[in-house]
Amino acid sequence: MNKVVIIGGGASGLVTAIKAKTKDNEVIILEKNDDCGKKILATGNGHCNYFNEDQSIKNYHSSQNELLDKIITKENMTKVLDFFDKLGLIPKIKNGYYYPLSNQASSMRNILLSKVNELNIKIKLNFLVEKIEKVNDKFYIYSKKEKIIADNVVVATGSYAGVQKKEEVLGYKILKSFNHTIEPVLPALVQLIGIGTYFKNWARVRTDATIKLYENNTFLALEKGEIQLTDYGISGICTFNISGLISKGLYQNKKEVVIIDFLPTLAKNKKDLSKILELRAQKLNTNNLLSFFEGMVNDKLLKTILRVSDIDFNKTYANLTEEEKEKIVTNLKEFKLQIVKTKSYENAQTCIGGVKLDEINLKTMESKYIKKLYIVGELVDIDGLCGGYNLSFAWLSGILAGSDISD
Ligand SMILES: Cc1cc2nc3c(=O)[nH]c(=O)nc-3n(C[C@H](O)[C@H](O)[C@H](O)COP(=O)(O)OP(=O)(O)OC[C@H]3O[C@@H](n4cnc5c(N)ncnc54)[C@H](O)[C@@H]3O)c2cc1C
Repeated sequence: MNKVVIIGGGASGLVTAIKAKTKDNEVIILEKNDDCGKKILATGNGHCNYFNEDQSIKNYHSSQNELLDKIITKENMTKVLDFFDKLGLIPKIKNGYYYPLSNQASSMRNILLSKVNELNIKIKLNFLVEKIEKVNDKFYIYSKKEKIIADNVVVATGSYAGVQKKEEVLGYKILKSFNHTIEPVLPALVQLIGIGTYFKNWARVRTDATIKLYENNTFLALEKGEIQLTDYGISGICTFNISGLISKGLYQNKKEVVIIDFLPTLAKNKKDLSKILELRAQKLNTNNLLSFFEGMVNDKLLKTILRVSDIDFNKTYANLTEEEKEKIVTNLKEFKLQIVKTKSYENAQTCIGGVKLDEINLKTMESKYIKKLYIVGELVDIDGLCGGYNLSFAWLSGILAGSDISD
């Protein structure tokens, strides 16, 4: 009998266990919490956005982007859908985003755990793995109180994202002890903290916007969608999607600035907006600025912009100086916000960084350094955008590792 031990009963660990189990493989999951798959319950705001139809590489990121096409392939992603189809999970697909038809993340966790039970996979809860050693062909896995011996080990401890006790996520440390290189692990899909004294004025406003990210004054990325203005800076899906780049840039002491266009659909650029406002001023020539912009911009946001531009609300648009008009137009179309920090790991949905891709066999997730040691899920230096990509990768890496073990 071959003994397979999986460290971590989260998304990737549960899938690996199911795929690895055969009549010749005894499979044991070691989970530090009092239950498996707790993070799955929090995904997609409790709905679990577990996959996305658009599996192109642009939705993923790694410090070795050039290797992504070795693993993010159509053929591989079909394996993920087949896996869930076999488990009987019926998807609800909305704009390409997959959720369980029940709309409950708990369905995802329950379906995985039922299969684990049906296959007689053992789960040891409250088992915090602290160290693994390999002596000859055997792995020795230690918690404070116990030692377990295994033939195959799968490290599936996830990243620090969304975790309260970061110091217990020991996957990185364990893999370092086997000489793996860990690219800096930093929060991603996370809120952005800016420099400014006006944040409390715009807090709780949600608005459609286009955001451009500049790093050391060089354009890096563009995102469109709803942003949330908060009392520390900005949040929302499109800010989340650039947060990994920002984390990395800040870590490297680079200057990160976002330029926000608050009127992306009304005018192409500042010149266009100036023209639109001049025409409007001919119709609304006695209105003060609050009533002049009524219905165009959220009123809290408008007041913030006027304050930041140092312009009296009671003026009419026609009475503004050219310099004042330029300030308003610039702050509406090209609002500049310097980002100085991201929120912490605990607030993040994923992390950038992890074990370097060229140290893992991307067909099997086996370490290239240590035979029969597998690395899956967020520990790997691949992260995805919002939209089901991080789970897609967690499932896929589990399927590849488990299939190799059961082969
Ligand atoms: C709030 C939130 C919402 C999210 N929503 C989505 C979404 O809708 N769609 C999406 O694609 N992704 C989402 N994600 C990301 C997704 O949940 C993760 O990418 C995915 O769970 C990673 O799987 P994993 O197996 O690598 O790690 P995890 O699912 O985190 O599992 C790791 C497991 O290992 C255990 N463990 C850790 N260290 C040890 C140790 N030393 N000993 C024993 N056990 C240990 C942990 O307790 C945990 O159970 C979200 C994340 C968060 C935090």
